Amino acid sequence: MPETRPEIPNVYDAEPIPAAAMEEVTRLLSTGDLFRYTAPENAPVSLLEREFAALLGTKYALAVSSCSAALFLSLKALDLPRDATVLIPAFTFAAVPSSIVHAECQPVLVECGADYRLDMADFEAKLPQADAVIISHMRGHTSDMDAIMALCETADVPVIEDAAHSLGTTWHGRNIGTIGRLGCFSFQSYKLINAGEGGIMVTDDADLVARAVIMSGAYEHAWSKHDVPAEAMRTWQNRLPLYNLRLSNLSAAIIRPQLPELARRVRDGRRNHDHVAAMLNASPWLRVPEKLEPEERAPDSIQFNLEAMSEDQITAFAAAAAARGVKVQIFGRSTDNARAYWNWQFLDRDWDLPRTRAMLMRACDVRLPARLTPEECSIVAGELVAAAEDAMTSGGGAVAAE
Ligand SMILES: *Cc1c(COP(=O)(O)O)cnc(C)c1O
Repeated sequence: MPETRPEIPNVYDAEPIPAAAMEEVTRLLSTGDLFRYTAPENAPVSLLEREFAALLGTKYALAVSSCSAALFLSLKALDLPRDATVLIPAFTFAAVPSSIVHAECQPVLVECGADYRLDMADFEAKLPQADAVIISHMRGHTSDMDAIMALCETADVPVIEDAAHSLGTTWHGRNIGTIGRLGCFSFQSYKLINAGEGGIMVTDDADLVARAVIMSGAYEHAWSKHDVPAEAMRTWQNRLPLYNLRLSNLSAAIIRPQLPELARRVRDGRRNHDHVAAMLNASPWLRVPEKLEPEERAPDSIQFNLEAMSEDQITAFAAAAAARGVKVQIFGRSTDNARAYWNWQFLDRDWDLPRTRAMLMRACDVRLPARLTPEECSIVAGELVAAAEDAMTSGGGAVAAE
């Protein structure tokens, strides 16, 4: 007895790039001016840096090839010695410990709780061994930045914010990514601004940005095309390696027209998230953790925990959701998940973090792009709630739902 099903919205497709990008890309292609340092001034990458710094309210911005590159350059800019210890949350993307390995430092993983945020007791316990800290605002979830900054200031440990997925999020009204010494953002396609690939770092520290500018590949006097004090640049000229992690003008041309879209994407993403969260929280088996009070989110996905479900029921839930057309990723259960720390086998040592592991085995991830309408979000949420019902009522609803 086939019943008619609402059409499940596609949550993977990107939204179109604003038409204004096309004109600029055509202009760049017709002149061949793709390298950021060819034009005497106002290259698209330079304009992007100026606009992004103004948008975030920081003194400096440096556009690079990815957020991973920005994290690597941040560590290098801090001039950490080889094998320096860098604290990171155990719940993050594999690119984060990778950037630490790339910088020849040692990551130390800190437990995260069921609300996806840093476990502050474990953070405080591990801070005395730290030379630096990277706070990953994973999936945009902001840890207690007041407590983190207070502890790190007292301990004199620099904080890098991995805000790859947090553009538009604020903490006490202040932009995430501008609270630590350096902040790093991504323009990879699954983030709020999509250039395929790309990243940017922000800071108020002239010396740090000068070092990062040179190492990003500003050879000879290319640095004079950056809005960075010449004095700081002259200090570091020829004294640092060039890693060539620059951004192309084409990417900047695709990013710049999306900056004015940001406020709308943040507003719609938050609306979608909060709408779906309310529907999921009405189920006894699905729980969306509360944000911390000072945070205003900018989500393009939703995470929720499965509660009071056995292992078999969790398996049944994922199957039932898939049968209903909504793909749910349970971080710790999907094979080779790059956000499950035990899959980071490139690290020197094995980590055992029971709290983080327990969270990852029950935490679900569903994309919820800002372009979805509230009606489409209701469909997604409705199917998730129904999938939990399927899993928790005997007989295996997943089959009956076919
Ligand atoms: C996407 C992401 C990164 C990596 O960004 P890239 O630009 O792809 O290098 C790092 N950290 C977090 C939290 C991310 O979501």
